[in-house]
Formats: sequence, C-alpha cells, structure tokens
Amino acid sequence: MHHFTLGNFELSILSDGTYPLDGGAFFGVIPKVMWSKKVAADERNYATAGLNSLLIRTGDKTVLVETGMGNKLSDRMIKFYGQPAKLLENLAATGIAPDEIDIVINSHLHFDHCGWNTVRDQNGKIVPTFPNAKYYAPEGEWQYAHKPSERDAISYISDNYDPLIASGQMLLLKGGEEIVPGISVQTFPGHTAHMQGIIIEACHPEKPAIGDEGPGRAARNPSIVHEDTDRAIGVHPYTACYISDLIPTTAHIDLTWGMSFDLYPLQTIESKKQYYAQAIPEKWLTVFTHDPAVPWAYVEKDVTGKMVATAP
Ligand SMILES: [Zn+2]
Repeated sequence: MHHFTLGNFELSILSDGTYPLDGGAFFGVIPKVMWSKKVAADERNYATAGLNSLLIRTGDKTVLVETGMGNKLSDRMIKFYGQPAKLLENLAATGIAPDEIDIVINSHLHFDHCGWNTVRDQNGKIVPTFPNAKYYAPEGEWQYAHKPSERDAISYISDNYDPLIASGQMLLLKGGEEIVPGISVQTFPGHTAHMQGIIIEACHPEKPAIGDEGPGRAARNPSIVHEDTDRAIGVHPYTACYISDLIPTTAHIDLTWGMSFDLYPLQTIESKKQYYAQAIPEKWLTVFTHDPAVPWAYVEKDVTGKMVATAP
C-alpha cells in the first residue's frame, strides 16, 4: 500500500482494484503507435485502469476522496468492466472501519468515482457505506446527472448519490470551498463541466499554521513565509492534489493526451495548463485516479519541454 507523509497529514492510496479499459477510449485522439509505448494493451486492445481513492488523516478528521466503482454494477456493466470491489478490504488494511470516515469527497459523479458511496443492505435498501460521514460532491455534477447527455448517461447511477442527497447526508459544492482546514475543492472543467480537483494543503508537522496560513496559502501570498527550507529549495512540499480525470494517469500528463470520455476536450487542455501553472512551481504531489502502478508523482517539465512524472 502507498503511504506518504505530507506535512502534518498522512496520505494513503486505497485501491478499489483495476479494470479493463479500451485503449482507444483511454487515449482519445492519440494513435496507438504512440500510447502503446507507455501502456500495454491485450489482444482485445484493453489497457488496465486503476481505481485509486485517497485517504487523508489530518489528525483531526479522516477523509476519503473518491469511492471507486463499488459493488452495485449491473450485469451489463460488469461484462465491460468487471467489478473488482477491493476498496473496503484495503480500507480495513489501514486499520480504519467505515464508520470512522468523517468526510467523503467525490470529484464528480461518474460510476467509477462514487461507487462505494452506498451499498445495498440485506433487504436491498440503499444505505451509506460510511454511516457517520458527511459526503460532498459538485452541485453542477449532481444537476447534470439528472439530465445527462446520451453520450455519458450510462456513467451516472443515481443510487450512488440521490439517497444521500434525500437524507441530507450529501452536501453540494459550488467549487472553491474549504471542506475541513487544509482540504478544499477547485473546479477544473473538461472531463465534465463541473469536475472538481481536491487540493490538500498540510502544514509543517512541528509548526502547525495559525488560522488560515497553510503553506499552500503561503505560496499564493508571498508575504507569508513559513520555513527556511521552503525558501531554500523554492518549493512548498506540503500540497497535494487529487486531480481526478483531468489527468487520470502518468501517461496523460502531456497537455494533448486526454481521454475520449472528456466531454470538452479543449477545456481539458486549458484546465491542465491552469493546474500545471500552480502545481509545477509549487511542487504539488499529483494523485492519479486511474494509474494502476503510479498513484502519485511530481509532474515537471524537463529541459526539452517534455512533461515528466517523478514518483516521490
Ligand atoms: Zn474516471
């Protein structure tokens, strides 16, 4: 299991397993002669996609970002994607029970990102998997999920969110909110119109920020300087971002390598530029939702201008 200490926060990758995804769908307009150098495909042209959730222990709250594919897929969906359903056993391996999760955040509401939000109980009733958690999802996503395009309607399964909205357990976000101190969301349109990245700004482990002055915030406000080492290396090593399907794997770090699933491919490129403009100079740890091997890395531009991902 992958663990990382980000300042005063503990991060862990929890996988819901892997699933087969058509290589063409995965890499959009990029020809197979190019993507097949980075990612292997089987004889049916399927590549392997991961389902990476991020567990954040802030010391105060236990936060789960994304809940994978879950265990409620229809037989038809299982034919395409299987149903690995590994998240709960991987959560148990960290020593955390589902009722200890305080916060669940979904970047968007496609079935492979919010599947374990809910489960069916013995009577077939949909109940929250994390009974004590407050759930959060983008408001625009939830509205879109009720009138999706024919193109991506199959990706929205109402049992993953509507019962939580009805019970008041799921709250909707406009984008820009801070959910708990150090964990906020920012809208990055492209994959969908309202998908949100989850930005995690931890503090120096021995010098917790006073009030609002996390190191990431300091980076945006140069008058706040926290640490000599930060200044010396010119980076702020306590920020991570779950950028979700904007950059689903390390093979997608190039601006033009988007997925066929993206509803607004030109916006994907613009959002990636906007993300890199912050994430590269501030050395954010980028979390890759669908990378089966490298769940997080630092993205940098090498001397030739090529994007490279360096695992921590
Ligand atoms: Zn996805």
